[in-house]
Amino acid sequence: MYKIILFYKYVYIDDPKMERDLQFELCQRLGLKGRGIVANEGINCTFEGTSEACGEYMATMSADPRFADVHWKISDGTLDGTAFPRLSVKVRPEIVSLHLGNDEDINPNEITGKHLKPADLQKWYEEGEEFHIVDMRNDYELKVGKFEGTIFPELNNFRDLKKNLKKIENLKNKKVLTVCTGGVRCEKASGLLVREGFKDVYQLDGGIVSYMEQFPGKDFKGSLYVFDKRNTMHFDDPEAHEIIGKCDKCGVPSEHYVNCANLFCHDHFICCEDCLESNPPNHKSGGVAYCNWKCNIKWKLYLLKKNFLKKFA
Ligand SMILES: [Zn+2]
Ligand SMILES: [Zn+2]
Repeated sequence: MYKIILFYKYVYIDDPKMERDLQFELCQRLGLKGRGIVANEGINCTFEGTSEACGEYMATMSADPRFADVHWKISDGTLDGTAFPRLSVKVRPEIVSLHLGNDEDINPNEITGKHLKPADLQKWYEEGEEFHIVDMRNDYELKVGKFEGTIFPELNNFRDLKKNLKKIENLKNKKVLTVCTGGVRCEKASGLLVREGFKDVYQLDGGIVSYMEQFPGKDFKGSLYVFDKRNTMHFDDPEAHEIIGKCDKCGVPSEHYVNCANLFCHDHFICCEDCLESNPPNHKSGGVAYCNWKCNIKWKLYLLKKNFLKKFA
């Protein structure tokens, strides 16, 4: 049985390179695969491994006082442990970036929204509390699942947040709850809202994944987009699971993500398996899809030019 563990911690890491090497060795020894980012500001990782390996990893990490209070998010992995092609642990300037520049960056240990436990959000719903959910994820992530009534600042990328804050300026004096997959983006995003003068800012503790785990099929509709081979996940009964994603091409309910076959675009969108099959096959790998006819033509022209040059150059 494979599990996927997801966690982050904003804590000062003195020597990210050394921490990176320690992480890499530990994961390698335990046979974990996945992605880790280490920076001076903290650590953010998603790994897949056997239940035992994940357990040992968490025990080892928890023995380190810096990571003793990490909030682990655990879900079922793939059947054969192939959610990630390999193990990668990298040193980066930040574990998530708002592209605010060094002087303006948010340190969540100094400024961040109030943490709201999933059970308290559930209470808000039950008691009819007035609040506004602002989803800090990218647009393609929201296509398969979101909280009802979510406000979405139209982020093509998380880095656009500061630019797009005007779109939610009307919420400055309202109760605002920011949400994202596991909580790591909200630590900074909610901090930015506080700094920009929003008066009553909360962030969903442990992210959407924690809410779904505790209240499957409730309030958050559809599936959660995840950055591994699973693409989407949910905790509710498969029979009762509601698909809110729609095929970009034909509109049928679907959660099947593809990348635009124009590699200069490579945009991520939903395309049902039928639509994909009805497209011309790409070598041995089956059908391919383009976001639109322009992407299709541009890519074909590129290939023609490339082949022409190969032949005659
Ligand atoms: Zn379709
Ligand atoms: Zn495209």
